[in-house]
Amino acid sequence: MGAEIYHDCCKGCRISQGIEEPRRGGGIIELDGNWILNHYGGDEGFLGWMALQPRFHRMELTDLNTDEANALGKNIQNIDLAMRQYWAIEFPKDPVRRVYVVYFFESAFEKSSDKYHLHIHLIPRTEKLGDLLREEGKVIAWNIYKLSKPNKSNEFPPEYMAQPENDEDRRKVEALMTYLRGQLHRPS
Ligand SMILES: [Zn+2]
Repeated sequence: MGAEIYHDCCKGCRISQGIEEPRRGGGIIELDGNWILNHYGGDEGFLGWMALQPRFHRMELTDLNTDEANALGKNIQNIDLAMRQYWAIEFPKDPVRRVYVVYFFESAFEKSSDKYHLHIHLIPRTEKLGDLLREEGKVIAWNIYKLSKPNKSNEFPPEYMAQPENDEDRRKVEALMTYLRGQLHRPS
């Protein structure tokens, strides 16, 4: 358990080694305890939706070694703070109220999909997004993955769209990642 191993067929390992660029650009940020932060690449992603993953190949939380497990909480706290600071500068009228921490990992059980290792989703919940997470007075926060799909929600704030093929959107991702790198990077 806890060995410094990579698997060539794992996209998580390829991204954490710098062999493969994250789909939305912006590169990776090295964090304490051998954690890597990159902008999330899935279609449902939007500006600020991040993936936090171990540098080395881990499939379960119980695979993390002591240093990795101990660093996780502080890394999440630091990312939360840095994300709020970036929003305060770039989007001062729409502050980040929470950074949601989500660990779904169904791709591990799919035979046909790309292979990834453990990754934790960090999703900024801004003031504006609060309205979209309610429907007829009920909280529907679990639907956060649907918000940015144009056919599902035309009210999604356009400034947070992050289509991988759109140059302007890629610049927004890169600007965010540059800021976060300056706040978070720990030389190894
Ligand atoms: Zn891996």
